[in-house]
Amino acid sequence: MDRRPRQAPIPSPARSPLGAPPWLAGARLNPADGARVAVVVAHPDDETIGCGAALSRLPGVNIIVVTDGAPRDLANARRAGFDSAADYARARRQELRAALSLAGIAEEQVCALGVEDGGAWPLHLAITQRLAAFFGERRIEFVLTHAFEGGHSDHDGVAYCVHLAAGLLLGRAPAIIEMPFYHQGRSGLTFQTFCDGDDGVVARLSPAEIAGKRAMFDLFRTQKQTLDRFDPSVERYRFAKAYDFRSPPNLGALRYNDRQAFLGLPHWMARRGLAPVASSTARTGQFAGAL
Ligand SMILES: [Zn+2]
Repeated sequence: MDRRPRQAPIPSPARSPLGAPPWLAGARLNPADGARVAVVVAHPDDETIGCGAALSRLPGVNIIVVTDGAPRDLANARRAGFDSAADYARARRQELRAALSLAGIAEEQVCALGVEDGGAWPLHLAITQRLAAFFGERRIEFVLTHAFEGGHSDHDGVAYCVHLAAGLLLGRAPAIIEMPFYHQGRSGLTFQTFCDGDDGVVARLSPAEIAGKRAMFDLFRTQKQTLDRFDPSVERYRFAKAYDFRSPPNLGALRYNDRQAFLGLPHWMARRGLAPVASSTARTGQFAGAL
């Protein structure tokens, strides 16, 4: 049951900016149309950070969480009070379920691929195949996912997989809408802005939507330190850029390259010789106007 407060009146889609889906501008979809939308993210909580308020306008939406959020090195697990990656992953799954229920999203709408945290790049082919099959079978029209920004290797890996999967569908490719999480800015870690300086479009959230999203944040108890760094009143979007995935994002300023060299994108790509991927969606660039 949707326990969130009722949304503001639905604006006419005809008044929405050209090309921007009306549900980003505050309209509530019917379940049949909501089922044509997929949110594909790396970790349990990314969906809430990126589009937690929009989720409540999308009954029937599909949530795909690629990793279980539990690195096998156990440092994060122990910090959160768990002795094993399995227990930590289970806790994160329960937090995800509880938070999504606040947005009216049922367990069967969530597809957890169960990749270990940090494992998106090594498993990119399998993930891409799963995503392409999912998008095709469900006739997905819009995918919300990570921007390619160099903040977390899994975020970038999932962005790559989504673009590649959509590209495999050719004329049936869904439009990809990207969301910024964090990246290396000029003066340090920078949150919820696009790393190329493009403003994108910030959705106007009502006070009730912000309160609802804050309540979702609160249910991710093991991630409090991380979520405290994000502003729940900001949801920023744009149609995905046409990336050349042979080159690292953010002009090579990667947050994960020094600490986790084994996950570093340029090393990985150089070793595996990944092919470049053109933008898979006909609709790229900025939304016309503000939401
Ligand atoms: Zn994440």
